[in-house]
Amino acid sequence: MSAEQILRDLVQRASINPMGRTWTSEEYLFEHRVTAYLDQFLRNLSLAPYRQSIAPYRENLMVEWRPAQVTRKILLEVHQDTVPVEGMTIDPFAGAVRDGKLYGRGACDVKGSMTAILLLIQQLIAKNPLRGASLTIAFTIDEEHTFLGVQKLVEIVPEVDFAVVFEPTNLQIVETHKGLVRWSISTNGRACHSSRPQDGINAIYRMGHLIQCIERYANEELNGPRFPPDPRLGNATLNIGRIHGGQSANIVPDYCQIDLDRRLLPGENALQAMADLQNYLHAHLGDFGSMAPPQLICPPLIATADNVATRELSRAIRSIGLNPQLQAVPFGTDASTIQEKGIPVVVFGPGDIAQAHTCDEWIELAQIDHAAAILYRLVLEE
Ligand SMILES: [Zn+2]
Repeated sequence: MSAEQILRDLVQRASINPMGRTWTSEEYLFEHRVTAYLDQFLRNLSLAPYRQSIAPYRENLMVEWRPAQVTRKILLEVHQDTVPVEGMTIDPFAGAVRDGKLYGRGACDVKGSMTAILLLIQQLIAKNPLRGASLTIAFTIDEEHTFLGVQKLVEIVPEVDFAVVFEPTNLQIVETHKGLVRWSISTNGRACHSSRPQDGINAIYRMGHLIQCIERYANEELNGPRFPPDPRLGNATLNIGRIHGGQSANIVPDYCQIDLDRRLLPGENALQAMADLQNYLHAHLGDFGSMAPPQLICPPLIATADNVATRELSRAIRSIGLNPQLQAVPFGTDASTIQEKGIPVVVFGPGDIAQAHTCDEWIELAQIDHAAAILYRLVLEE
């Protein structure tokens, strides 16, 4: 099968991650249609995929391939989920092709990479090389929201020499990225009728002070001498992304909550980053409210000297006449969770992150063929 055929099949099988929301139509939700397709594709090639159940309709799918003479062991990891489709200006599930580009939700992030992996497997089965790297391929769930798939994967992943995590990088090698931690802070008050606000305590007013203090922390502290920027990733950042509180205009609110997202630089730790803000708020406001434990942590990906994954992938990229460049990106990926297991890892894939999550998401089909060729050389070269 060609890149176009495979990718269209994948795009036509919706695998939307609801990302904590509840309104997405059920027929498009979760990864199971893609999982079933991958399972059948691999069985048709006489491989034996196996599953790791994580939640209803949500399973990691794994498969192994090994030549007679194994030179080293590589893990390839790619996520099955996509972001939702509201606001898209094209049919998200048609997989239309124009000017060498295939359009649809997930085409770029990251079903194009998944296609390259399936092309690789197809070619390995057809050519049956005697000698090369053995592959563990993991198709994981829930990268776009809480990284559940990769967290479960690392509990069972076999020993490997290095790993490649797939995201759209324009066939460049990403060796470092920021991490993130998300959590919430709440303030309490005392409710009463709004005709006598002096009898109550307004939790939203309390939150107002807190928000001003957090904004100052984000602007001054995180850009100040205590938090030196990473030379490639820039500054640590903090965002308040959501607020809710109160019941109606005629009640003094007794509760208010904000949700925060702190981006972590290599060397930073999620819990320490939260504690630093907590100490700052204490110092400026005293008893400010309460901080919930983290909902989500993705560690930063740390560039390491002499990373075997960087070295081998660079060689494979060069072998098809392209020039590998090492990059740093601000977004989080599954790679850092794999790195925490002590496995050397880089992020790589066809497509540009600028087209990911967009209203007319697309990928150039030629890049997928290039990616497959690079992966084939990665497996065969020593
Ligand atoms: Zn992705």
